[in-house]
Amino acid sequence: MNNSRETKSQTTMEWEAFYNLEVGEKLPFFQQNQRMLDVVFAQQFDRPFLDFICSLANQIRQLARTKMGAEHLRNILPHKRAMLYFVQPSTRTFLSFLNACQILGLNTSEIRGTTTSSEVKGESQEDTIRTFSSYVDMIIVRHPESGFVEKTAWVLNQTERRVPVLNGGSGPDQHPTQALLDIYTLERSFENQSGLDGKSIAMVGDLKRGRTVRSLSYLMQNYRDVTLYFVSPQEFRMKQDIKDHLAKKGVKFTETDDFESVLPLVDGVYMTRIQKEYSQAPDSESDYYPDFFFRKEHLELIQSHCVIMHPLPRRFEIEVDVDKDPRAVYWKQERNGMWLRAALIAYLFGVEEKIMEEFK
Ligand code: ASP
Ligand code: ASP
Repeated sequence: MNNSRETKSQTTMEWEAFYNLEVGEKLPFFQQNQRMLDVVFAQQFDRPFLDFICSLANQIRQLARTKMGAEHLRNILPHKRAMLYFVQPSTRTFLSFLNACQILGLNTSEIRGTTTSSEVKGESQEDTIRTFSSYVDMIIVRHPESGFVEKTAWVLNQTERRVPVLNGGSGPDQHPTQALLDIYTLERSFENQSGLDGKSIAMVGDLKRGRTVRSLSYLMQNYRDVTLYFVSPQEFRMKQDIKDHLAKKGVKFTETDDFESVLPLVDGVYMTRIQKEYSQAPDSESDYYPDFFFRKEHLELIQSHCVIMHPLPRRFEIEVDVDKDPRAVYWKQERNGMWLRAALIAYLFGVEEKIMEEFK
């Protein structure tokens, strides 16, 4: 008995030591044979990878348009199985990963909530994770706790079944695949204006607890001459760690609470929701900030090529009437996530050539 307690505390100590390392030091641990194995942090993606994954996503969506192309895609990974372990509410990320798997022919299983798994009986998180890996070849995780997805990958990478782990959102921390689809959306939207390089983007709303804006901010270091405007109420300003990172990487940013004055200056407006689920007192917190609400009349203020984005779900950030404007791209952004995630899964299984060869 004593022994097993000691072993447990040893593991906990090792995990804590790993968790406290700088992200840069951890990255090799999430690779295998010089390739990304797990997707945990947005900092894992460099510019060549981002360009590659966006073009792979374009190829997949093009192939999927015809019956023959769709069949070719479905025959790429029918021998693989993926597990979707989503213990935090999700509509989009879940459906988009599920459909991305189906596009490539993967079989899927799902757990949506710890109440239906053996964690209720007191099984440790580590044992639950190892159990998943016994049945599947890839695990996609969404969890309310920061660090949980990282821990999943860390645990599995020390076993003989190192299956890829994908971060589908880890508490208020990161949402790296959302950042990828946001980049894909920006690059596609600015296709005729030399892409995202040289653009100015406003991020608006709860920047403090919004994981999508955190992950997207990390990716901006890969683009030349990008300027960020962080527009938020005082209490939801972007956290210092991101600001320090951007300063170190030479990405220009400005902070303001004057939403309207920023609108004419930018090429993209990325609206976000107040993340009340992370509040200590959710009942007394408002989720409506009228000064950070994109209304129909704001369409007059933005440039003709400016895109309006939102990771969704929407609460009180964008007036529904704005949806009809061609610059509102959030529904396209949502669909882009499915193609991009299919590309990412293909890459993680090392089968991208099977897609690319169709275009040679
Ligand atoms: N909770 C969000 C949703 O319902 C997050 C996501 O899935 O990306 O879509
Ligand atoms: N869907 C995004 C997320 O899961 C944004 C949000 O929920 O507000 O983080």
